[in-house]
Amino acid sequence: MAVSVNYDLCTGCRNCIENCSNNVLDLVNGRVTPVNPDECTECLTCELGCPHEAIHIIEE
Ligand code: SF4
Ligand code: SF4
Repeated sequence: MAVSVNYDLCTGCRNCIENCSNNVLDLVNGRVTPVNPDECTECLTCELGCPHEAIHIIEE
């Protein structure tokens, strides 16, 4: 998987981080970053729960 975040839209609200049950995402230097990408199941919960449509999972 790859994560695409539009940092112009992202407010850093942490919804995506807290909604991911696999702890894939975290804030690094204020930016949502996949810190455990191998754990991603491509469930899209993070994407669907973003209030600003700022994060997209790219299936590979
Ligand atoms: S849910 Fe959306 S706005 Fe909030 S931190 Fe994640 S990407 Fe940014
Ligand atoms: S797609 Fe699912 S497992 Fe992957 S980062 Fe988003 S919430 Fe976590």
